[in-house]
Amino acid sequence: MSSDNYLKNMKNNEGFTRFKSPIFKYLEDGILKDSRRIELVSLMKEGETNGKNCFSCQGFCCTRPHNSMQVTPLEACELFYYLIKNDLWTQELVTKLEASVAENRLDKEISFGGRSFRRTYTCPFFLHQSLGCPIDPEYKPYGCLAFNPDEPSVTTEGKCSSRVDILEDIAPKHDQIEEDFKKHLKSQGFEFSFQKLPLPVALLELASLLL
Ligand code: SF4
Ligand code: SF4
Repeated sequence: MSSDNYLKNMKNNEGFTRFKSPIFKYLEDGILKDSRRIELVSLMKEGETNGKNCFSCQGFCCTRPHNSMQVTPLEACELFYYLIKNDLWTQELVTKLEASVAENRLDKEISFGGRSFRRTYTCPFFLHQSLGCPIDPEYKPYGCLAFNPDEPSVTTEGKCSSRVDILEDIAPKHDQIEEDFKKHLKSQGFEFSFQKLPLPVALLELASLLL
């Protein structure tokens, strides 16, 4: 099936229509206008202005063995919203997400001594070129936004860091918004069973609710 037909079929799907109108409206009316990402986005842009960009890097933080990005249901919904609005949720993307899950066994939990470990994977969105991530910063997972170069023109590992302090500041606000969002989803007949999952698994889980 071509991408165009895939997207058209999906948008005509009853589950998607039932999800889209109340949930996308809920996101548009409130959540997407709040300030959770403001500090992270302006920090990233400020770094870029000072030459601290990713253009010379091969994308260590988006690829194996370093990337283990996980997202919450709200982060997955915000990204899904962006992908749908920009006609980027295609059959090709779904195939890439499924391949990433299978290749990296992202749907299998590894635990040892009562602790579970995050699996690493190359992000299916990573473009393997100088502008590595095509996603608008306003819709990116917080963890991606928080990780930035500490110096100009990074080409090797270990020259970037995460603003854990900002992530910690965002957490309570995120938790409250996510709790309200989940209640809203539940009132519309949709329920997520996870707290955090690797990005490809979370997006496919979301799609499975709708299709
Ligand atoms: S944040 Fe650092 S590791 Fe990640 S792509 Fe940019 S320069 Fe490379
Ligand atoms: S979403 Fe973008 S920034 Fe985050 S891991 Fe994937 S390619 Fe990298």
